[in-house]
Amino acid sequence: MRQVMMNADLFWSRLPSLHKILSLLFALLICVVLFVGGNDASKTLTLPTLSSSEIDLSDFEYKASKQYPANYAYSISKGDSLSSIFQLLRIPQSTMYEVLETDLAILALDTLKPGNTLRFWLDSKTQKLAKLEIEFNLAHKVIYQQVGSNGFEYKEIIIPGTWKQEVLAGDVKGSFYNSASRAGLKASDIMEVSSLLKEKINFNKGFRLGDTFQIIRSKQTVEGQETGETRVEAIRLINRKSEITAYLYKDSYYDKNGVGLERAFSRYPLVKKLRITSSYNPRRRHPVTRLIRPHNGTDFAAPIGTPVLSTGDGVVTEVKKHTYAGLYIKIKHGQKYKTRYLHLKKAYVRKGQRVSRGQKIALSGNSGRSTGAHLHYELHINNRAVNAMSADIPIMTEIEGRERKAFKKTVAAHKKAMGAG
Ligand SMILES: [Zn+2]
Repeated sequence: MRQVMMNADLFWSRLPSLHKILSLLFALLICVVLFVGGNDASKTLTLPTLSSSEIDLSDFEYKASKQYPANYAYSISKGDSLSSIFQLLRIPQSTMYEVLETDLAILALDTLKPGNTLRFWLDSKTQKLAKLEIEFNLAHKVIYQQVGSNGFEYKEIIIPGTWKQEVLAGDVKGSFYNSASRAGLKASDIMEVSSLLKEKINFNKGFRLGDTFQIIRSKQTVEGQETGETRVEAIRLINRKSEITAYLYKDSYYDKNGVGLERAFSRYPLVKKLRITSSYNPRRRHPVTRLIRPHNGTDFAAPIGTPVLSTGDGVVTEVKKHTYAGLYIKIKHGQKYKTRYLHLKKAYVRKGQRVSRGQKIALSGNSGRSTGAHLHYELHINNRAVNAMSADIPIMTEIEGRERKAFKKTVAAHKKAMGAG
C-alpha cells in the first residue's frame, strides 16, 4: 500500500503544472455532476418497492402495471424533456430512440404534459428498459413493451369510466367565453360549444344583454376519481329570445329537431386523389424484426410541396417535429374525430387555430424517417385509428324513423335537467 502511495506522489510531482490544474478541474467537475445528479434523483424518483425480478414481463395487461410497481415513477414537470428524463435514469439514448420508433405509430410521447406520469420497469438481469408506461390520466395509458431484443411494441389503454352529468348555467355578461368560464366550463368545453354553433350565432358579437345559456357537461371518473376528461352533452342558448340548441346523441350533435350540426368530412386530404402507396394496416409487422408496427394511416404518393387540406372543420391541437414522423399536424374535429398529417415540409397553421374543411394546412414533404416523398394521413374515431378510406365519416344527417323516438326522449330528459322542460 505504502509503495503505491509513494508511487502516486512521485507521479503527481512529476506532472507538468497545466496537467495538475486540468486534473483538479476534472475531479471537481465529477463531484459537481454527482452532487447535482444525486440531488435531482432524490427529488423526483420514487424508490422501487419490489425487486425487478418479481415483475412479470410477459404480462402486457393493465392489471400488471397495478400489480407490480415500477422501478421508477417520474412525474413530468415544466421544462422536462424525454431525453433529460432518460439521462437522469441512466437509460441509454439509443433505448429512447427505440421507444420513439415505436411511438411513430401513435405519437403519444410528444403530447406529455406537466402532471403526466412516466413509469419505468427495468429487466432484473440486464438492467435494460423492459417496459415504459405513460399515464395521461386514470382513463388513458400507453405502454411500450420490449419484445425480444429487437425493440418495443405498444399498447394503448382507454378505460370508458363513468360519466356524471351536471348543469352549468348563467347570463351572458361581457364575452361568452368569460361568462361560460365563470359558470365552470373548461376552455376546451367552450371551444366545443362555439365550434358547434358557429353557424347559428357569432360568438364574438352576437350576444345581447339578457341572453342566457344552459349547458349539460359530464365529467369522467374512474374508480371514483376524476380523470379531467369532460364532454358537452347538451347546449341551450337563449339569444334575443330565440333558442339555439345542440344535443349529443350516439356521439354526434343535433339540434332539437334532429338535424345534424356537424359539417360533412372529406375522404381525402388532397385537392385530387393520388395513388395510395401503403394502406391502413393495424397488424403490419416489420419485415426483419417481425415486431408489430401498425400502419395507422394511409400513404398517398404526393410529390414534395403538394397542398395538404384539412378533411373537416376543427381545431389544430399539435404542430410538431418528431424524429420519425417528421413535421406533423394533429386536428380535433369535435368530440369524436381527430386527424393527423405526417412527414410534412411546411405547416400553414399553428396550435389552437380553428380550421375549416378543405383549408390548406400544409405542404407535403419527406420529413422524419420516410422512404420517399408521401403524405401519411390518419383518421381517429373516439381515440382509435381507423381506415380513413372506408370508415364512416360525418355526412349531413337527420335523425329519422325509429331513431326519432329515442332521440326525442334524450332531448326531453336534457331539457328537463336544464329547467326548460
Ligand atoms: Zn404511412
